[in-house]
Amino acid sequence: AADKPLLRFITCGSVDDGKSTLIGRLLYDANLAPDDLIAALETDSKKHGTQGDDLDFALLVDGLAAEREQGITIDVAYRYFATDKRKFIVADTPGHEQYTRNMAVGSSTADLAILLVDARKGILPQTRRHSVINSMFGVRHVVVAVNKMDLVGYSEDVFRKIVADFHEFAKNLHFASIYVVPLVAKDGDNLVHASQHMPWHDGPSLLAYLEGVAVEDVMRIAPFRMPVQWVNRPNLDFRGFSGFISGGNIRPGDIVRILPSGRDTRVSRVVTYDGDLESGVSGQSVTITLAEEIDCSRGDLLSSPVSPAQVGDRLEAKLLWLVREPLTTGKSYLLKIGTKTTPAVVNLVQSRIEIETGLATPLGAEETLAFNEIGEAQLSLETVVACDPYVENRETGGFILIDRITNETVAVGMVKEVSASSRRVA
Ligand code: GDP
Repeated sequence: AADKPLLRFITCGSVDDGKSTLIGRLLYDANLAPDDLIAALETDSKKHGTQGDDLDFALLVDGLAAEREQGITIDVAYRYFATDKRKFIVADTPGHEQYTRNMAVGSSTADLAILLVDARKGILPQTRRHSVINSMFGVRHVVVAVNKMDLVGYSEDVFRKIVADFHEFAKNLHFASIYVVPLVAKDGDNLVHASQHMPWHDGPSLLAYLEGVAVEDVMRIAPFRMPVQWVNRPNLDFRGFSGFISGGNIRPGDIVRILPSGRDTRVSRVVTYDGDLESGVSGQSVTITLAEEIDCSRGDLLSSPVSPAQVGDRLEAKLLWLVREPLTTGKSYLLKIGTKTTPAVVNLVQSRIEIETGLATPLGAEETLAFNEIGEAQLSLETVVACDPYVENRETGGFILIDRITNETVAVGMVKEVSASSRRVA
């Protein structure tokens, strides 16, 4: 059972679209064994790197590591269930005005998003916003769950119109797959069993689709990455580097590059609380010992030497602004990426991304980002950092900005490009 594939998904909808009914009825109809029944998981109390017990839990809490440390995940409820084909982790994000913040957290770890649509209302601005945010945070697969079909007389025409509208809108968002399914969550139609009322629908039920949908395990095939969370030195004979593997895998004997310094060295051991591993894989918290006494500390990134992360102090990035006080260019914020923290300044916001279309609009020099707005910006960092473009690795390419006075998380960021300023920092 442990090697059943995992699907992480997020449910998005407006209040009353039927999110709770959908999940509740799905589990009920799927007749899950008691062990596999939904379990709410504690998300706030633990930090990865300090627990070695539960792999599902570790998988659950990855993504935007820095953000978790900052403690902004409060409003996202994660639930776990399993069928005989697959394990599932659902992130349920409330629909109130802080939804972008919650969705950012939920989406950044999700493989797939279920977008709930009320059949009577069709594709709403809210549906478009949810789609854009999911696309931006790297969710590649979408299910449009057209709910409350009973209230439109199970009409195929109504359904077809919604399918067409969504495809037309989503053209720019480049999802890898889109599946639209007509539902009556309340009665269970097309959740687990095919609907008697909608014989015209020839696709799988929602659960059958979720069990079968192929999502690429990007983390696992990514080049090796491990942000060093702490130096583990229980006694003089042992010096290990602990952290969460954020891409690829690592074995004793492998060469790793320590970034940003760029020194290469060999891995001696890969250790967990249960002993030595033959191989550590993405999603695991491990401690790595190195063959040489070499300079390496919290905030460094252990990286594959063949496909190393990039190092620089200039970032081109997308920013999602999370607070009422608008972004101030030229002001010093703290940037946290992986386990590294450095002062940073936003030099310029070049464009704002219109959240209902996903398209960028250029901004004038004095313009900036307001609450819940997304833009493309240039940042200068006080020290160099090692990171990846977000599209290549959501862990090592995602960051947050923190207000240095209030200590509040003011933005979530996604690295697009990394470069080094001419003032070289060693
Ligand atoms: P949430 O706010 O998105 O979690 O929505 P709920 O699951 O609480 O559902 C909101 C209301 O819609 C409740 O009164 C449900 O009984 C009702 N509802 C949910 N699904 C359906 C459906 O398929 N058909 C009809 N007619 N009502 C539904």
